[in-house]
This record gives sequence, C-alpha cells and structure tokens, in this order.
Amino acid sequence: LTVLGIESSCDDTAAAVLRETVEGGTEILSSIVFGQTELHSAFGGVVPEIAARAHAEKLDLSVAQAMRAANVDFTDLDMVAVTAGPGLIGGVISGVMCAKGIAAATGLPLVGVNHLAGHALTPRLTDQIPYPYLMLLVSGGHCQFLIARGPEDFTRLGGTIDDAPGEAFDKTARLLGLPQPGGPSVQGEALNGDPKRFRFPRPLLDRKDCNMSFSGLKTALMRMRDQIVAEKGGLSRQDRADLCAGFQAAVVDVLVAKTKRALEIYKAEAPEVATIAVAGGVAANTAIRAGLEQLCAEFDTQFVAPPLKLCTDNAAMIAYAGLERFKSGARDGMDLSARPRWPLDQSSPALIGSGK
Ligand code: ATP
Ligand code: FE
Repeated sequence: LTVLGIESSCDDTAAAVLRETVEGGTEILSSIVFGQTELHSAFGGVVPEIAARAHAEKLDLSVAQAMRAANVDFTDLDMVAVTAGPGLIGGVISGVMCAKGIAAATGLPLVGVNHLAGHALTPRLTDQIPYPYLMLLVSGGHCQFLIARGPEDFTRLGGTIDDAPGEAFDKTARLLGLPQPGGPSVQGEALNGDPKRFRFPRPLLDRKDCNMSFSGLKTALMRMRDQIVAEKGGLSRQDRADLCAGFQAAVVDVLVAKTKRALEIYKAEAPEVATIAVAGGVAANTAIRAGLEQLCAEFDTQFVAPPLKLCTDNAAMIAYAGLERFKSGARDGMDLSARPRWPLDQSSPALIGSGK
C-alpha cells in the first residue's frame, strides 16, 4: 500500500508519501516539512491565526512536492491519512479539508489520525518493534507515559500535571533571550555550562506515581536570573550557559526517575516484552536520550529512539499511523471532524462524532 500523509496541527505544514515494502516494513518515499518559525518569531510563540493562514497557503504545495519527490501520482496512492487533532483548530481544519478534497476528487479512502498516535507509533515506523511497548511521549504540548498495545489502544500511566517539557525549554529560552524553538538553543548553551552551579527543583520525585511537574522550573529560573541581574547588572555568556545546563539537568533527572517508575509498572504487567521508546520533539534532546539509554541498560531493556527529524512534527508518522489504522479496518467519511482536544486513550473521531 502507498499512503499520502498530511499534517498541519501546529506550526509545521507537512506532507509525506509512505510505501509498504515486500519485507513487511515501510519506506518513506518523501517527507516535506514547511516550518513557520520566522512567521511567529516576532510574537514569542505560535499565533493560531497566522498558523492557520500559512497552513492553508502551503498545504497544496507540500502535497505536490511530496508526491513529486516520491515520484507518484494520485493513481499510485491507496489512501490518504490526515491529522484530525489534537492541535490548533484552524490548522487541523485546513489539513482535514485538504485531505477530504483529495479523497472526494480521487475516490481514495480517508483515514483521520490522532497527532499523538502519530508520535507514539513512530518507533514502529523506524524500528518495527512489536506491541506492547512502553512509550514516553515528550513534545511541545505533551508529556506522558503510555503502554502502546495497538494503533488505537493506549493506556496512560501518568504524565505532566502542568507544562510539557518542550514548553519549559521554550520558556527558558525566552527568559534568557535565546532563539525559538527553545529546545535546540537551550541544549546548545548547556553544552558549555556547569549543571551544578544552580540547583533547580526536581518536583514530585518523592511520589510513587508517574506524574511530573515542570512549571516550577521556569519560576526557579526567573528567580535565579533576576538575582544575577540585580547583583551584576546583566547575564554573562557563562551565566546563561550554567542556567541552561542546570535547567536541562533537572528535566533529565525528572524524566529518567519517572521513566524508571513507569518501567517498573509496565514490567509488572508485561515482564517478557521490555521495550521503551521515546518520541515527540523533546526526544531530540541528546542529554535526555543519554539518560534514558543508561537507565535502559541498567534495566536490561531495549531502548528505541527515532531519528531526530522523525521526532519533531512530520507527515511520515501520520501516514504510518493512518496505514496502521487502515489495516485494522478503520475508514473515515466526509463527516470526519477536526478536534482541538483528543486524548490518546479515547477512541476514533468517527465514534466520537456519532456520539457513541
Ligand atoms: P505536540 O506534538 O505536543 O502538539 P509540538 O507539535 O509543538 O507539540 P513537537 O514538534 O513534537 O511539538 O516538538 C517541538 C518541541 O520540541 C518544542 O517545544 C521544542 O523546543 C522541543 N525540542 C526540539 N528539539 C529539542 C531539543 N534538542 N531539546 C529539547 N527540546 C527540544
Ligand atoms: Fe507534535
């Protein structure tokens, strides 16, 4: 089967073509991503109206480019998969409309995909790991531990009770005057910093559950920054690097400690299959990866982390999640609706749309 995937739920307009291989795997024939970072940079965050307009402008182009790069036309395709939520509603509607247009014009089957399922299934796209596996989904808007049992079968073990780590990285960058997105810039600064100079809190580590909290880090950072500014009149490069390193070390410690907790819960249920996978934009962080890798080595657990460009938003993961849904019999009609909120441990958009 050959799949066209479309993604427009946040600030990337993306299209990709995916094909199943004879060996039973999948091959990404093309993956086009138009970022919108410059459009939003003056505002210090994603502006929904600007994002929606940019998606509407770029969707046709990204689909055309993805198909050209994959050297396919509509007659080569077997289905269209599109992100139907969760996300900024204007962008999601643009993508869903685009996919419906293609489905209506070509007669191709349409499958709506949960953006988070796209992230959560990425390890199966890249590494063909079997169900079940433990998933740490850690992105700009989300942070949760899931047991993945099937393309629409997820159990949530816990997650952040306030900010997502990506958000915390972005806010940290903003507070220190570093460029957005904050993840890569904070990681870059942290390389030259001393993680021990500033002591950031590690909230909720005394609790036995898998819940986390990251909003206190931002408050702590603000206090430390203001104190340095009050004492010295401004931040030096080294101050900035040390703050980034301290902040990042706290995020790593919390994620690793709670992953250990999730692993214990998961292993009690499925002792014979121990795989932990990470996905989402923050999974691109090399310090987080290193911490989790070490934990998995200690626990004799397989660690799977997709390549960086499949960790951040892309349409290949949407095509793949759509393919899995399609193969399990799922089809969506022209009544497929865009959903701003859509927790992963709830069922498909069609079921919810029909009130079941
Ligand atoms: P969601 O998927 O929850 O809707 P999103 O689509 O905004 O959110 P992604 O594209 O998955 O999120 O990830 C973007 C986030 O990842 C940003 O917050 C960014 O700062 C963060 N990020 C990217 N690279 C890194 C890195 N190296 N270290 C830490 N964070 C990073
Ligand atoms: Fe995302």
